[in-house]
Amino acid sequence: MAERISETLQKKLSERLGFYEDLGIQLFYRARGSAAVPDSRLRLDLPATAHISTPDQKEQTLPKPAGKPVLPRNAAAPAPVSSKIAPLSVAAGPSLFESVDKIAGDTLLKVREDLGECTRCKLHSTRHTIVFGDGNPKAQLVFVGEGPGADEDAQGLPFVGRAGKLLTQMIEAMGLQRNDVYICNVVKCRPPENRQPEEDEVSTCSPFLFRQIDVIAPKVIVCLGAVAAKTLLRTSRGISQFRGEWLEFRGRKLLATYHPAYLLRNPPAKSEVWKDLQKVMAVLGLQPKKKAQAP
Ligand code: URA
Repeated sequence: MAERISETLQKKLSERLGFYEDLGIQLFYRARGSAAVPDSRLRLDLPATAHISTPDQKEQTLPKPAGKPVLPRNAAAPAPVSSKIAPLSVAAGPSLFESVDKIAGDTLLKVREDLGECTRCKLHSTRHTIVFGDGNPKAQLVFVGEGPGADEDAQGLPFVGRAGKLLTQMIEAMGLQRNDVYICNVVKCRPPENRQPEEDEVSTCSPFLFRQIDVIAPKVIVCLGAVAAKTLLRTSRGISQFRGEWLEFRGRKLLATYHPAYLLRNPPAKSEVWKDLQKVMAVLGLQPKKKAQAP
């Protein structure tokens, strides 16, 4: 028979499951012999506000708290928990392996070490350099782009090409320097011909991005362009439908705006981006650089 659990525990379980859902992990297995739960399955009477998205998920077996989550290799990734954006039923997550869990004592160095000379997806075969990310490891503001281009691939640094120069101007117009913020990408290797990263590449690489964000723990995440926004929010909606709105990624404020490369092609959109960045500045208590113009 189902056992009632306290509201506090319900809330904690709900948050914990939500966190796993954000990571694309749906199924949990209780370790054999665990004494933590008397029944083999624990019924969760989740509060009405819990955003557990798939219909069959009202019943879950408990994750072993300190253990690593187990993910079936071809499990479909779930809808979002924390974003207000309509969910996307998304792709398989063959790469959502255990390291996507929030790791106590994790550091950017460890994330970089775990990434290693990555060959997990096909992008490794054409890249020259892994572009891990750059900037202040304690930044209050993290920019997430799509993936390295040719300049980044050559230099090993994010946003150093034409789009990067524009991003730098935007950051400076906000009253910051590039090294005040942290800049990274959804995928860490250049997609050939600068094509968009494919689903399997995104799902393979994004756990490292999640860990980077967890470690940095910024106050605000700005997604530059649709790929970053869709990856973090798990939505299929076009960026123009939610650009400039405050959303959430795992409890952190997230705002999506247009990619600087798009602005290079469509300069009139700069004023929209500048409005978005002013919202970020307000949250971070930043004053624009004197005589700052919209970049
Ligand atoms: N575009 C991106 O999305 N990222 C970079 O690092 C450079 C260009």
